[in-house]
Amino acid sequence: MAKIMAVNAGSSSIKFQLLEMPAETVIASGVMERIGLAEGIFTLKYNGKKEETHPVLPTHAEGVELLLNTLVEKGIVKSLDEISGVGHRVVQGGEYFKDSSLVDETALEKIAELADLAPLHNPAHIIGIKAFQKALPNVPEVVVFDTVFHQTMPEEAYMYAVPYEWYEKYGIRKYGAHGTSHKYVSQRCAELMNKPLKDTKIIVCHLGNGASISAVEGGLCKDTSMGLTPLEGIPMGTRTGNIDPTVVSYICAKENKTASEVVNILNKKSGYLGMSGRSNDARDVTKGMEEGDHRCKLTFDVQAKRIADYVASYWLYLGGCDAICFTAGMGENLKHLRLNVAKRLAPLGVEIDEKLNDTFSDERIISTPNSKIKLYIIPTNEEVMIARDTVRIANIK
Ligand code: ADP
Repeated sequence: MAKIMAVNAGSSSIKFQLLEMPAETVIASGVMERIGLAEGIFTLKYNGKKEETHPVLPTHAEGVELLLNTLVEKGIVKSLDEISGVGHRVVQGGEYFKDSSLVDETALEKIAELADLAPLHNPAHIIGIKAFQKALPNVPEVVVFDTVFHQTMPEEAYMYAVPYEWYEKYGIRKYGAHGTSHKYVSQRCAELMNKPLKDTKIIVCHLGNGASISAVEGGLCKDTSMGLTPLEGIPMGTRTGNIDPTVVSYICAKENKTASEVVNILNKKSGYLGMSGRSNDARDVTKGMEEGDHRCKLTFDVQAKRIADYVASYWLYLGGCDAICFTAGMGENLKHLRLNVAKRLAPLGVEIDEKLNDTFSDERIISTPNSKIKLYIIPTNEEVMIARDTVRIANIK
């Protein structure tokens, strides 16, 4: 048995889960937030308890130190020697990383180099990695990239029709995102269908605040909706998804803004937030729709149409599919959105069981026995994938 820490470090937060492997049981989990501010928040869940404290966390290093000391103080681990490996989620691995990797100087340099493509994420991951290196110098660390799963896309799926030199000089292409989630859900779906992974064709709809859809054949990604950055694809909490790029120069001229200011609006003030005018949170927009607000209903219809467009085009690309899976905050919880999408897919032979769709429980099938394509809700579990890769890459027994 080995205890593995799965970490997702952001610019001001560290999310973590301590898992017992290979059993994959969660021993403790939580998050440290507001790092660098006057007062931080440390939430820790273990043994069915949830505790919140408000320590001062000047940098990630103090956060990691406090986390590890707390694990020992609470008896969650007897000593830090029990932690056999640390796995870090990293958003952007570019074309360089085709698999998860041990952390060494070269890996850190590459992750830093790729920060151009993930300016909010990669630098924060490096800070998190270094904080754990300092606190646990003898424990192997592994980086698990969101982009790796999408590296199996064929050229025709990842290339943009832009001047080819842009790809050669600057790496302009589709990299995708949420790969760890797409991988977990497609593997789990094959298990639920009781079919060998290599014989499956699955479309995964990861619908959270950020959202992406991917076409997975034989366990390998063939296409995905997110692009060079997580702005491409379907509309999301605050992001537009696809639009005509001319909108950028048009708004620059109309509102006297720079291109990066407008792109910032496309990233942070659009999607659910921009369309509904209420919130980026689907719960608030649902409330607006139930109160009869046209823009709230429109927000869901625009997104559902785009989801269905992607699913239908991936269905064609894969030459049919066995299952469509819904995952992440909205995919797992928003029954009216799933119904909206499923109804649009009826011409493909999709038949949703409205009762199963309405019933609240975790992992389940929500299509009728007659449906030509199975519909599943599969709660995502990126942490377990990080822990599995940490064990595999660091060869932990
Ligand atoms: P991310 O990890 O990208 O920040 P999540 O996967 O947590 O996003 O999804 C966040 C979205 O899921 C929000 O729009 C939120 O409203 C929605 N969501 C989460 N829980 C529920 C719920 N119980 N009912 C309806 N919507 C929910």
